[in-house]
Amino acid sequence: MAACIFCKIIRGEIPSMKIFESEKTLAFLDIGPLSKGHSLVIPKFHGAKLHDIPDDQLSEVLSVAKRIAVAQGVQDYNILQNNGRIAHQVVDHVHFHMIPKPNEKEGLGIEWPTQ
Ligand code: IMP
Repeated sequence: MAACIFCKIIRGEIPSMKIFESEKTLAFLDIGPLSKGHSLVIPKFHGAKLHDIPDDQLSEVLSVAKRIAVAQGVQDYNILQNNGRIAHQVVDHVHFHMIPKPNEKEGLGIEWPTQ
């Protein structure tokens, strides 16, 4: 979708810190992280809400979030997905937040870039 900010990231028209990309899925760091390593996992198919996305376009999203958790070495994290303004959705392209809650002493298990 031409005006969608996440579609622009997919097309490379807006810079992002990409951490995973496949034919159907993209993951990149959130520009306003709630914790170090906060990323967004999105289907490349444009749809505002979860029910707008065909199942086959969503099939990788959770496994990518899981792979990010494994790569970051975190045991504690939130996977969050908002639908609609009342539910605090700001960007109208489906996205899953992967928000690590790293151990305060050890941080993320590995060095991780920041946006
Ligand atoms: P929502 O409230 O679930 O819609 O979250 C939207 C998220 O997108 C927020 O956490 C923003 O910080 C993030 N965001 C908005 N624009 C960009 C961008 O250009 N790059 C990366 N993250 C973005």
